[in-house]
Amino acid sequence: MPQLAQRVGRAKPSAIMVIAEKAKQLKAAGRDIISFSIGVPNFLPGEHVYAAARESLSHDSGQYGSNRGAEVLLDAFLKHIEALGFSGYTRTNLSIGIGAKHVLYNLAEALLDEGDEICFAAPYWTTYRDIADIVGAKVNVMHCGPEQNYKLTPTQLDAALARKPRVFLFNNPSNPTGMVYTAGEIAALADVLVKHPDTWVITDDIYNSMVFDGIGYHNFVFARPELRDRVIFVDSVSKTYGMPGWRVGLIAGPEVVAKAVTTLNSNHITSLPEVITAAAVAAFSGPQEVPRARCAEFAGKRDIVVAALGAIPGVACPRPQGAFYAFPDISVAFGKSHHGTKINNDVEFCAALLEAKGVACVPGSAFGEPRAMRISYTCPTAQLQPGLARIAEFFAELN
Ligand code: PMP
Repeated sequence: MPQLAQRVGRAKPSAIMVIAEKAKQLKAAGRDIISFSIGVPNFLPGEHVYAAARESLSHDSGQYGSNRGAEVLLDAFLKHIEALGFSGYTRTNLSIGIGAKHVLYNLAEALLDEGDEICFAAPYWTTYRDIADIVGAKVNVMHCGPEQNYKLTPTQLDAALARKPRVFLFNNPSNPTGMVYTAGEIAALADVLVKHPDTWVITDDIYNSMVFDGIGYHNFVFARPELRDRVIFVDSVSKTYGMPGWRVGLIAGPEVVAKAVTTLNSNHITSLPEVITAAAVAAFSGPQEVPRARCAEFAGKRDIVVAALGAIPGVACPRPQGAFYAFPDISVAFGKSHHGTKINNDVEFCAALLEAKGVACVPGSAFGEPRAMRISYTCPTAQLQPGLARIAEFFAELN
């Protein structure tokens, strides 16, 4: 048989999918499973989104569209990012992709040659490492453990940027930790970025509508507008509007980068379908009740999760302030046993928890932090308390 390309060998199946698949199998076998594993919003977009999609279908041209995104979508996105706090951007600063994941992949292709360095903080979203591996970039991980609330410090960033990486990839609010950077923290990191002009900065901020406790969403360019010629903001309809399957991602950044992504689009995807474009326009420019209500709901669920985890002796959970994830440090369990099953690490912990209690969580090592596990709390509230109670029970049964 002919050989596959080496880059495929470098791509690993997602650890999140592995645990979700195991949970699905157990469920199919009749087990009562509560899944805290997948980071998919459990709500649908507003009716106006469906109405716009239906209306678009009724006069669909069936033609290819713009590589950069239809003007109506770009204009709706411009208004959306202005409301977030970005100013002075025009259509020429924008481009599209099939979801933020595709946008990030395009950016990696556009900005990184083989052997170039990319740096990002751990815990990180699993796909960052995979995308870097696929394009053959070298990864420098900045470790940000629970003792520093999983947040990158200016000193760490300064040290990483001294190596002159081509790209610094930043994620706020964070998947998997739910951490959100305050205006002051963003400003302090932006001051460091200004000192290192050789590095592109990607801010993957697709959870920007889910920020709790009045912290607000902040970007480096709000603090230091001169960074606009190096910062690329990534957004998506997936989490904000409950539209992960519609696959629309966008960037706002320097013209030269938007152009490069558009060129890649012309070779990879050509354009987004008209019906999808219409739905995304409706989401960005229509009533914003759905994201607002979901944000309040997730803040309430966050309180339940933090309270339950806080009551487990030895488990520390830095308080998430955004997205829908919690990332407790579970290392107190390592070296102990559950009904005779020895638990040496996070992977064995999550496997034993799923087997014994039917609760699916994702091992932290998938995100570069093997002391922790990720809880995604998008499940119905009725499952949340019982799931957390089972985790507490599991800890209580360790010896
Ligand atoms: N970035 C982060 C941090 C994510 O968590 C996800 C989805 N889980 C994405 C990007 C990709 O989102 P999309 O559905 O827009 O591809």
